[in-house]
Amino acid sequence: MIDQKGILFILSGPSGVGKGTVRKELFDQDTDLKYSISMTTRDMRPGERDGIDYFYKTNEEFERLIKQNQLLEYAKYVNNYYGTPRAYVEETLAEGHDVFLEIEVQGALQVRENFPEGVFIFLFPPSLDELKTRIVNRGTETQELVLNRLREARKEIEMMDAYDYVVVNDRVEHAVEKVKSIIQSEHCKRERI
Ligand code: 5GP
Repeated sequence: MIDQKGILFILSGPSGVGKGTVRKELFDQDTDLKYSISMTTRDMRPGERDGIDYFYKTNEEFERLIKQNQLLEYAKYVNNYYGTPRAYVEETLAEGHDVFLEIEVQGALQVRENFPEGVFIFLFPPSLDELKTRIVNRGTETQELVLNRLREARKEIEMMDAYDYVVVNDRVEHAVEKVKSIIQSEHCKRERI
């Protein structure tokens, strides 16, 4: 039997662990998943596009969305807001599609409370040293921001136990294969006549 309702997958983990890279590679391969584009108040980075990478909002716009309960979850992360549009996720799941979120840890924990049936995947760095190198090498941020992101990452790693699966991102292609297996097995779990 085909699922009546889509499954919500949440990929989370510390900044710099490679969530974005794993998600992009997964979406290059798996067209059945629907990616929920987040809202953010952070500045657009070179190469990013509004409505593709994020929906870029002002603080006022974002706070209005919070008040109107239009976000499934949101978090303030390194002085910027990030959030998931509620309507897109709920409607897409109801249409029977799987939805994929790539979000930081505080937001994932909020989704866990409201959507306990979601599948929570924690992407883990091979080591903290490796994580530091990745954050520094991204090269788009000041030293202060890099330090903030590292501090945040250490706190986030402590949240790992709240997740259903842990995937070590030693190599992107391995991590993507593991995420694909998780998606497949979650579907098998729900197959009923
Ligand atoms: P970046 O600024 O590097 O694009 O993202 C910073 C962090 O925000 C990343 O860990 C990313 O996964 C997370 N993030 C992106 N979108 C959302 C969202 O909608 N909600 C939450 N809570 N975090 C998000």
